[in-house]
Amino acid sequence: MSDFSVKADEQLWTELQMDVERFKNVPPVLTKLYSDIFLSQKNRPAEMTYFDNMIENIYTGRIQEMLDARKAGKPVIGTFCVYVPEEIIQAAGGLCIGLCGGSQATVPDAEKILPRNICPMVKSAFGFKISGMCPFFQAVDFVYGETTCDAKKKTWELLDKYVPTHVMEIPQLKRERDKRLWLEEVKDFKQAVEKITGNEISEDELRAAVDTLNAKRKSLQRLNSLRHNNPSPISGRDMLLIQQIAFYDDPVRFTDKVNELCDELEARIKENNAVAPKETPRIMVSGTPMALPNWKLHNIIEGSGAVIVNEESCIGTRYYKDTIETNGASAEEMLEKLTERYMKIDCSCFTPNDDRIDQVIAEYKASGAQGLIDYCLQFCHTYNIEAVKLREACEKEGIPFMAIESDYSPEDVGQLQTRVEAFIEQISE
Ligand code: SF4
Ligand code: SF4
Repeated sequence: MSDFSVKADEQLWTELQMDVERFKNVPPVLTKLYSDIFLSQKNRPAEMTYFDNMIENIYTGRIQEMLDARKAGKPVIGTFCVYVPEEIIQAAGGLCIGLCGGSQATVPDAEKILPRNICPMVKSAFGFKISGMCPFFQAVDFVYGETTCDAKKKTWELLDKYVPTHVMEIPQLKRERDKRLWLEEVKDFKQAVEKITGNEISEDELRAAVDTLNAKRKSLQRLNSLRHNNPSPISGRDMLLIQQIAFYDDPVRFTDKVNELCDELEARIKENNAVAPKETPRIMVSGTPMALPNWKLHNIIEGSGAVIVNEESCIGTRYYKDTIETNGASAEEMLEKLTERYMKIDCSCFTPNDDRIDQVIAEYKASGAQGLIDYCLQFCHTYNIEAVKLREACEKEGIPFMAIESDYSPEDVGQLQTRVEAFIEQISE
């Protein structure tokens, strides 16, 4: 796809009150980065074209869809976490949009206000808003924040000055009383969304929304189990990309396209048409999410000759491993089931969080990986400390393990490359 080019629309960005002079440099930079990392891969599945198009239209077509939705009175909510009951936004006819927080470009903007020694995802996202460098941020009704970690929850107080920020309290334990608290928070969130539309969400709307998001999660489960095949029919880079696009695409369209890709991968598996030979070292990645456009570690690992076969992450299985059974449930019961589903998310902000350790080991075994790389964004204390337990569990299971802590800057790429290459050599012996 040599004519790939991320599209620009300066008029649209002006209307959104962005820093157009600065932002107009972004599409060419993204075009080059994307071409180097994704389009240079050999033998990509043909159905990846749709996802390439989503990146081409990331600053134009999808933004227009968001503005059209708002014009039609539908809620458009920006999010930073998988701990957002997006079924409620969907039920109100709205759009749930994961906001960008994976770029180094806006970290210096954020550091003019925020401390330097906090998570790069928080700095990147905050920087995008205060610098007027993100059309998504400019097109939302409000931002949904959560109290998962300290860096986020204190930043919401500052972000609220720039964009309305609705904060939900996420419990840190999973007892019955914590679940009741979360249910109340879900109900408050529902009211905040209904305030935008002026209509109460009906039972049928909620059921249809749950079905839509179940179908989306199931399509991703299907895709992830197909990529576990050895040899892999799709690269880890492409899988990461799809899982990132899941956070801002229309869920129905996205589900159809993922299923079409799955059909193609099934055919490729039958024909033994792989992206890498069977003997290619297979690596699973676990840990903190990789928000768009954070492709750093995947690029290093696959550029070093391995293939990534699973992501245990919020931009990965944590987003789609659980669905909601609605069979005959009333609206109130559905909200409870929805609450239970979200309480299964094993974010390291919970204590204890041993379910996550078990989940990582189970996914490792299912994926046919030969080594685990645990990825932690710099200054993320909860994932960093949880890596201790994960290492112990891997040692017990005889799983080769490596922990990596990094940010978005290119400075440590050489050093990471050396460590990753040594790890790949170790697991290939
Ligand atoms: S790691 Fe935790 S805080 Fe981060 S997106 Fe996932 S659930 Fe949210
Ligand atoms: S990666 Fe860690 S520090 Fe960063 S936002 Fe997520 S939970 Fe917070």
